[in-house]
Amino acid sequence: MSEPRPFPYPYRAALAICSDLDETPDRHVYEQIARYLNTTADTAMGRGLGLEVGNTIYFDMPPDQFAYWNTDDAGRELVRALIRSGHIDCFHSFGDLATTRAHAARALDELDRHGCRIEVWIDHARAATNLGADIMCGQGDVPGADAYHSDLTVAFGVGYVWRGRVTSVVGQDVRRRLAGIARRPHLGASVRTLAKEAAKGFLARTGSVKYAMHRDNAVLHDVRLRDGSPVREFLRCNPHWAAVDEGETAEGLAEVVVDPMLDTLVRRGGACVLYTHLGKIEDRSRPFGAATCAALARLAERQQRGELLVTTTRRLLGQRRAAREAQVRLAPADGGLQQVAVAYSGPTADLDGFTVYVADPDRAALAVNGVAAPRVVRNPPDHTGRASIGLPWPRLGYPA
Ligand SMILES: [Zn+2]
Repeated sequence: MSEPRPFPYPYRAALAICSDLDETPDRHVYEQIARYLNTTADTAMGRGLGLEVGNTIYFDMPPDQFAYWNTDDAGRELVRALIRSGHIDCFHSFGDLATTRAHAARALDELDRHGCRIEVWIDHARAATNLGADIMCGQGDVPGADAYHSDLTVAFGVGYVWRGRVTSVVGQDVRRRLAGIARRPHLGASVRTLAKEAAKGFLARTGSVKYAMHRDNAVLHDVRLRDGSPVREFLRCNPHWAAVDEGETAEGLAEVVVDPMLDTLVRRGGACVLYTHLGKIEDRSRPFGAATCAALARLAERQQRGELLVTTTRRLLGQRRAAREAQVRLAPADGGLQQVAVAYSGPTADLDGFTVYVADPDRAALAVNGVAAPRVVRNPPDHTGRASIGLPWPRLGYPA
């Protein structure tokens, strides 16, 4: 019997701030936010938090919004550097003004030419290139439609898609529980939010396709796009008391990332892809106010305490995929050693931090797809009292 640990040691839960870039005014704000979140350099908001937080990108937008084709050469250089480092990890459609396959092809060719890869797709507003049929009204995966691009986009490397599904349930990949949504200081509104989430669960159990993801509360679901392409759809979470589409701004984050929510997430041992828009700000000179900075500092503190792993959307989705799909076998080996054999067909990076409980980590060895792991970490007993062996969880390097 073998049991993988759900998250890298010592973490008990994991969270990705999954921010759509809507209304980000310019590259200065985009860059300030990335630097504050991901480095410990001095910024307009104070010393950076040293977290690991990605961002989204789109291409064809009205001129007042930051987007790849709108910004200047320095902005495009910045975007490409952050894609290469893993800090821009999601498309956010191709933008409001991208209406044809040619718009999509132009963006993909540009990234390809620069050796940039993005593997996650997130639908945006009512963009024609969206992939979601019901909630997001997209045409991007309908063969023959003007905006059809999903064959190109999937061939480019996109394997994860978000098509509008958001839950209020704190923590996915654990049993669905509605406790924690209704909150005493906001009883009226939060009970309405609870009722809506309960309705989604009821509809899911009675066969609704729209809310099927809410039923088993998993982050990932195997689906096919309308052109038949197999992809993994993911569920995002916004546990704001008022509604799944409230508090999804920089300021609103302060009402979402609060200690009761984080306590619940850690206690349940869940994963959370947090739905927000960090570019919706009040003050360009200081994008995040004091309350938002305090909320983000709570995340940094939880990570420091070894409770909560904070990472990018792409890395969290890969971690979740490996937790679901990797096969683990424990076998006795020479000299009384215990051999942990991991078999996984996805990208190697998905196994970053992959950890397996063993009787004695000092007498265990770990191999991936038949090859001895060059570096392993041996962990003392965690909060469950069990020791483990695993692969290291390297941090992303922020571009200089
Ligand atoms: Zn959007």
